[in-house]
Amino acid sequence: MTDSGEIILVGAGPGDPDLLTVRALRALERADVVVHDGLVSAEILDLAPGGARMISVAKRRARHTLPQEQIGELLVREARAGHIVIRLKGGDPFIFGRGGEEVEDAHRAGIPVTVVPGISSALGAAAAAAMPLTHRDHASTVTFVAGQCRGLSDQNWAGLAGKGRTLVIFMGVATSAAIAEKLMDDGLSPATPIAILERATLPDMRVLRAMLADLPGLVERENVESPALIVVGDVARLGVRTAQLLETVS
Ligand code: SAH
Repeated sequence: MTDSGEIILVGAGPGDPDLLTVRALRALERADVVVHDGLVSAEILDLAPGGARMISVAKRRARHTLPQEQIGELLVREARAGHIVIRLKGGDPFIFGRGGEEVEDAHRAGIPVTVVPGISSALGAAAAAAMPLTHRDHASTVTFVAGQCRGLSDQNWAGLAGKGRTLVIFMGVATSAAIAEKLMDDGLSPATPIAILERATLPDMRVLRAMLADLPGLVERENVESPALIVVGDVARLGVRTAQLLETVS
């Protein structure tokens, strides 16, 4: 342990422990303290040293997540105590992971901070489903958006989806009806292909497909639960079905 500790933001990937990077695993093995989200699986948490203190800042239904401000304070306090603090996040820390705010907190406190990228769930999910997000025949642009964030209705999504484009929506299950409506109001055809990639890279992953107009219906009929991604565009037709996944996802 050094006099002053450090904070390492580590992307844990989409779920399957095999999709951790070598650097993420090495960082995790050095941890004195691990501060993790709910999306990080028990199998990955088990890779931390036996003596490391594990602190969950997970969302629970009845309770809100630890406010971001308090997470920042926790990281800084633990690092000031001389610890190597691993902030472990699902996917990549800088894709809808609020990693940017934690880097700022560390900078303000004068604590050394580094970032280990992770395989974002969008990339892990696409690979597991064999659904290319870009394809010479179907899409030459791909956009990641958050379906649940401040002022969804105020955001301008015009042009994010449509011919030759792939839109990947994170955190969109609860707001799927509003999302479908927003996209159709923007002029997207109700017959645009969509896919839902649920619990991607985990053994019980599902790939569900429909047309845009039926997105909320699909979510309801299939009881889709978070974490799931919604892919909008022609590439949503490509790839494997849930039954075929069982052979690729271990
Ligand atoms: N930093 C993460 C995203 C965090 S936001 C990343 O890079 O992937 C949380 C959202 O990510 C979830 O609501 C869901 O939309 C998506 N997500 C994370 N893990 C997922 C998984 N295994 N399968 C499908 N979606 C996932």
